[in-house]
Amino acid sequence: MSEPLQVPEGLRERLDQVRRKIQTCASRCGRKAEDITVVAVSKTHRVDEVRKAIGAGLFDFGENRIQEAEEKISEVGRRVARWHLVGHLQANKASRALKLFDVIHSLDSVALAKRLNRLCEEEDRSELPVLIQVDLAREQSKSGVAEDRLPELLEAVMECSRLQLAGLMTLPPYFDDPENVRPFFTRLREIRDSFEVKGYFDKGRGELSMGMSHDFDVAIEEGATILRIGTAIFGMRTPRAETMTG
Ligand SMILES: *Cc1c(COP(=O)(O)O)cnc(C)c1O
Repeated sequence: MSEPLQVPEGLRERLDQVRRKIQTCASRCGRKAEDITVVAVSKTHRVDEVRKAIGAGLFDFGENRIQEAEEKISEVGRRVARWHLVGHLQANKASRALKLFDVIHSLDSVALAKRLNRLCEEEDRSELPVLIQVDLAREQSKSGVAEDRLPELLEAVMECSRLQLAGLMTLPPYFDDPENVRPFFTRLREIRDSFEVKGYFDKGRGELSMGMSHDFDVAIEEGATILRIGTAIFGMRTPRAETMTG
């Protein structure tokens, strides 16, 4: 068992702790901390906290609900940060999402890929970086494409000229002991590697968006290039925050 998550008082202290842990963990496994992007998941947290985080040098922020993101992003500013959609995207909200987000981490169906591509054409957006969310645990409640449907979705994304396939994302089930999450991270890396050699990813190298507050050290060991960290940066969320949709 690794030690329980310690969350210090102030945002800067929490962020320092996160950065130290990334540094330590990356060097322990022969990686560079600079190769790892932190997406600060600001869902449920107030605009002044986001501004504080920007002041502390963070640039990438993750939100999971369109309505909340609309309010927050219009206040903080669309261009002062890079906004990542990390929650499930319903087809009927794709147009709103496109106006708000720089990167979509939760592409999980052919229909959604085609819709986003068509909206990009209509709205003159030349490129939209996307990650495909892979559902490795086959949990009915979660979004993501099943592994056996992934090749079909990859092919569809290749046909979408406005979508840039940046990489893969996964959201494993929660375990108290992060070691139990390791097999999911390992599997996502293996899948990424197998499609990377076939040239599916926009920049050649496919990003791995995996690892959250209590398991990002394990994710780094397994090759994560994007960590989605909420609690360890912003502190605890209120329970209403926990839904993954909207
Ligand atoms: C909320 C959320 C996170 C961040 O979770 P923490 O445990 O607070 O770090 C990461 N990814 C997704 C998809 C989320 O919804």
